[in-house]
Amino acid sequence: MWSMIANLLWFFGALAAMEGVAWATHRYVMHGPLWSWHRSHHEPRRGVFELNDLFAVVFAGLAIGLFAVGAATRIDAFTFSAAGVTAYGALYALVHDGLVHRRFWLPLKPRRGYLLRLVQAHHLHHLHHERLGAVSFGFLVPLDPRRLAEKLKRQRETLP
Ligand SMILES: [Zn+2]
Ligand SMILES: [Zn+2]
Repeated sequence: MWSMIANLLWFFGALAAMEGVAWATHRYVMHGPLWSWHRSHHEPRRGVFELNDLFAVVFAGLAIGLFAVGAATRIDAFTFSAAGVTAYGALYALVHDGLVHRRFWLPLKPRRGYLLRLVQAHHLHHLHHERLGAVSFGFLVPLDPRRLAEKLKRQRETLP
């Protein structure tokens, strides 16, 4: 019983932690040294894939690595963390690539509440096409779009 609770905690803990990892990666790596990959996501897409999709491959590698460690050591914490990372990746693909960017068909158009706020917050991230000066780097925990819009305006004014 306790091990089941612990496993669920690892699963949801890893899922929640991935929002922080995604935020930090987006803020400091994608809009930092690996802008050369991420820039493709701030420009109109040519073709089915964009260079930015390589980040999904890297995160999939992280999940596969954790699954492999879990299998080799038979320590459930690794396996359930790997499942949490995978679940975050699936949610990200579904919501970011499906709901926000419409890269595949989804029978859902958010009109209010959390999902609309999430879509608006991410569109505000895309209003800016440069490496510096963007807002809203998180994803599943969106900030208030009105506050983000004000912040975006301020950041743009302070850019050289
Ligand atoms: Zn970005
Ligand atoms: Zn996007």
